[in-house]
Amino acid sequence: MVRQPVIQGGEDPLRSDGKGAETPPPGGGLPRGPLFGGGDDQDRLDEELRPQRLDDVVGQRAVVERLRIILNAARKRKEPLGHLLLDGPPGLGKTTFATVLPKEMGTECQITSGPVLSAPKDLLPYLTNASYGSILFIDEIHRLPKAVEEFIYPVMEDFRVDIALGEGLNARTINMKLKPFTVIGATTRSGMLTAPLRDRFVNREHLDFYTDDELADIVRRNARKLHTKISDEASREIARRSRGTPRIANNLLRWTRDFVDSEAQGEITDALAREALARREVDELGLDRQDRRYLQTLARTFNGGPAGVQAIAHSMNLAADTLEDEVEPFLLRNGLLLRSPRGRVVTEAGLRHLGLPVGEIDPQKRLF
Ligand code: ADP
Repeated sequence: MVRQPVIQGGEDPLRSDGKGAETPPPGGGLPRGPLFGGGDDQDRLDEELRPQRLDDVVGQRAVVERLRIILNAARKRKEPLGHLLLDGPPGLGKTTFATVLPKEMGTECQITSGPVLSAPKDLLPYLTNASYGSILFIDEIHRLPKAVEEFIYPVMEDFRVDIALGEGLNARTINMKLKPFTVIGATTRSGMLTAPLRDRFVNREHLDFYTDDELADIVRRNARKLHTKISDEASREIARRSRGTPRIANNLLRWTRDFVDSEAQGEITDALAREALARREVDELGLDRQDRRYLQTLARTFNGGPAGVQAIAHSMNLAADTLEDEVEPFLLRNGLLLRSPRGRVVTEAGLRHLGLPVGEIDPQKRLF
């Protein structure tokens, strides 16, 4: 996924003219794991259905209300927003909030991500482009290299950069003043952020999984955007199987729409939605092949656990990050998996869900 810096004006959400980005820094982000789709395609799909204003954002009521307060206060004082850190699993709306806020403020937004900012110089064009009150969104901020992280401290605190020029005896540091602006950082791992970086964010919000009702609302709204008719029951069925995650709801809606357009016609009914989801191998709880493979690997290869995530990832030929970010949070939340000091353990409910015998594995004995 290569993300070019986007500079958007507040009133024209589609403008993306790269204004001022004469030397575009390498934009980018992490390739998303298999469950969430990945690459440019997923970005384009996300963009198509992304809410444009705070009023269009579904759920996360407490977060929305707090953001409204800081927005109103900043607007009244004609000051930039305080730096904001958003954390939570992938697909829950971090980028959405980060792109809605500049629109609400009527200001510009530049987008980059931690892993592509490999040295302070990569950050520099973004800083010099940042206009007063504009927003710099740094996705995956926990992956900023240490040198860049240290470089960003005085930026966030005093809107100042210290640039070292030359080496040895000729070395000198010049300070450059920047226009006050706002950093919005997003992370799936707030625990991996260093304390000094975390402390520089005056506002911190955690995004949690969505309820089925909220997801059904998102599915209905997005079906309208896609000019697709869908019954209420079908919206709810897709919502129930979306693992509390709007991005998954959107992807399942698109799949269901493709299925109906190809295999039937007309409105997406409950029966058609079920058939489409079965064909996609998304089960009643919303687990897909990858989730079931994870539980099966833990149950069979590791005899139920406890097992370390690295070992499980190795057996599945996947990155441990992908498992920790995209697979485990939902399994943990649903009581199919436990994390113990000794490693991951599949629960009785997890075994039942897989249709495996429960008696042979006693998770309680394995915890400590
Ligand atoms: P993240 O940055 O946390 O990975 P995104 O903000 O890219 O997640 O969200 C993915 C997609 O999910 C968005 O394009 C949007 O369509 C949908 N979405 C996320 N949060 C919401 C929300 N609160 N209300 C409506 N749609 C949402």
